[in-house]
Amino acid sequence: MSDAAPVTTQIERPVLTPPNGAKKVLLHSCCAPCSGEVMEAIHASGVEMTIYFYNPNIHPRQEYDLRKQENIRFAEKHGIEFVDADYDSDNWFKRAKGMEWEPEKGARCTMCFDMRFERTALYAHEHGFPVITSCLGISRWKNMAQINGCGERAAAKYEGVSYWTFNWRKGGGAARMLEISKREQFYMQEYCGCIFSLRDSNQWRVKNGRPKIVIGEKYYGVDDAGGAAC
Ligand code: SF4
Repeated sequence: MSDAAPVTTQIERPVLTPPNGAKKVLLHSCCAPCSGEVMEAIHASGVEMTIYFYNPNIHPRQEYDLRKQENIRFAEKHGIEFVDADYDSDNWFKRAKGMEWEPEKGARCTMCFDMRFERTALYAHEHGFPVITSCLGISRWKNMAQINGCGERAAAKYEGVSYWTFNWRKGGGAARMLEISKREQFYMQEYCGCIFSLRDSNQWRVKNGRPKIVIGEKYYGVDDAGGAAC
């Protein structure tokens, strides 16, 4: 992190300690809304952090670019280093083969978390980060135990790299995530990310008399009806 522009927040927070008292963390981020609270919480604890954006699951490219640009905007605002990793979506589709009809939180999602954390752990190993973590679990739509299992499995491949299983939802984290998203008017994604979650979300909407998702349409603090579903 540079010291160019500090994160400013009025929120009172406890001091968090990463595993083994590490002073440096590589934070895997999927989007700005999920990472905003986590970034501010880590920063408030005096821990150095770098954002690692590796999300080849996000489809289509327009949605991927929107989510990434919002995350870059927030990282730049606070002088936090942002690593823009590959969009190797072909590899993601290869790994998802045969799991097209898996429900959310099922085997396809385990593969998806594994793939993203494997790359995050490799980067941590190659660049001297003792701890990795992720903002994915802050979403109420995700299974925390599933995410932690994938993170720990990825980190275990490298000696000296640990996965921080902190529950970012607790202690008001979920509410602050929403508060920060509104304050920053982040882009509001309305499905988890992959083509299959977009299909399933739209099927549910049609069944419930709601219009299909329009990519690039909604922003927190501007269009709050419905809420995000990433
Ligand atoms: S539903 Fe979400 S976590 Fe599951 S495979 Fe799709 S993008 Fe990945």
